[in-house]
Amino acid sequence: MSQLIMELCDRLVCNTYARYPVTFERGAGCRLWDTEGEEYVDFVAGIAVCNLGHSHPEVARVVCEQAQKLVHVSNLFYTGPQVHLAQMLIERSFADKVFFANSGAEANEAAIKLARKYSRDKYGPGRFHVITMEDSFHGRTLATLSATGQEKVHQGFDPLVEGFHYVPYNSVEAVERAITEKTCAVLVEPIQGEGGVRIGDLDYFRALRELCTAKDILLIFDEVQTGMGRTGTLFAYEQLGVTPDVMTLAKALGNGLPIGAMLATAQAAQAFTPGSHASTFGGTPLVTAAAAKVLEIISDEDFLSQVRDTGRYFLERLEDLRDRHSGLIRDARGRGLMLALELVGPGKTVVDRCLEKGVIINCTHETVLRFVPPLVVSRQEIDRVADTLDTVLKELEG
Ligand SMILES: *Cc1c(COP(=O)(O)O)cnc(C)c1O
Repeated sequence: MSQLIMELCDRLVCNTYARYPVTFERGAGCRLWDTEGEEYVDFVAGIAVCNLGHSHPEVARVVCEQAQKLVHVSNLFYTGPQVHLAQMLIERSFADKVFFANSGAEANEAAIKLARKYSRDKYGPGRFHVITMEDSFHGRTLATLSATGQEKVHQGFDPLVEGFHYVPYNSVEAVERAITEKTCAVLVEPIQGEGGVRIGDLDYFRALRELCTAKDILLIFDEVQTGMGRTGTLFAYEQLGVTPDVMTLAKALGNGLPIGAMLATAQAAQAFTPGSHASTFGGTPLVTAAAAKVLEIISDEDFLSQVRDTGRYFLERLEDLRDRHSGLIRDARGRGLMLALELVGPGKTVVDRCLEKGVIINCTHETVLRFVPPLVVSRQEIDRVADTLDTVLKELEG
């Protein structure tokens, strides 16, 4: 069964992914089962997507009920669930307005378009440059891959969209130097996800805020991965002491249903007028009803406090692993349940061996083992993963 699916997939689906040889059939909480009935503990969660775990019963119920009522009518009309979600997002963030999209890339596209339009409306043409960071990740559409500061993502897609300038992450001076009279926005992740779980300093974000405010440059936080409770607060920017002008969300917003959102202050958002931007599927009743339920559960203060506690416990276990395997591990770090072990060498073998033992983890930026489990993960599940890592690292040392 699994063999047939894998063969057909390789033959019929565009060959854009290096997939692991597993076919999943079912999930519940932090567990997945493959077509052979094998159980796995999932610390990837669809890449920081299923923050409430797989098949969350309350989300499933909302999806079933809404699917039987109304799935889609287009943005030619008003629908209640879309407005309800917008209201919830605004109540819980710095923002005054929301644009709904279907993915992280699309949310970032909207943010980039908004920044260009905002600047053009106020200052005329030519002020369209966006400063982004080296090793950032913002998506795979043409504009967002151009925004992404990684050569391997650009490879083969020249010419890129004009106007993106990459500077080293966490360097205020580099941003200062890169700003010109043509700059309309600075786009940055509070913690670089794909770039290896790199954490920016508080001073860095404070300085970016000041620079952007002084020059009327929009500060855009890409919280596609860090948002929705991942780092222990609903949004990661809450821990930075500054607010952006624009923030993008996606990944966990629908707990697996495709939804993205761009949130903006009233001042920035005014640049979008009827006809500026659109999306057929953006903010359908089905996905917004699901996302409202997800947001309701995650933004509960007890839930978030639990994420911080569990995250601390997990980080302690990772630090312990770092101390026990200092020849292989360079660093243990992260916030909330966005955690990482930076290895001395490539992490692929560790990921492969963990998978053979029923533990799903992920490696990003070659050498960084990334852990983004469902936020409902238990200490027993963390122990299972940490113990498995211990065994695998011992094997590699031995
Ligand atoms: C995943 C990710 C994106 C892209 O999201 P898609 O839904 O795959 O388009 C953008 N930014 C960040 C920070 C991400 O982690």
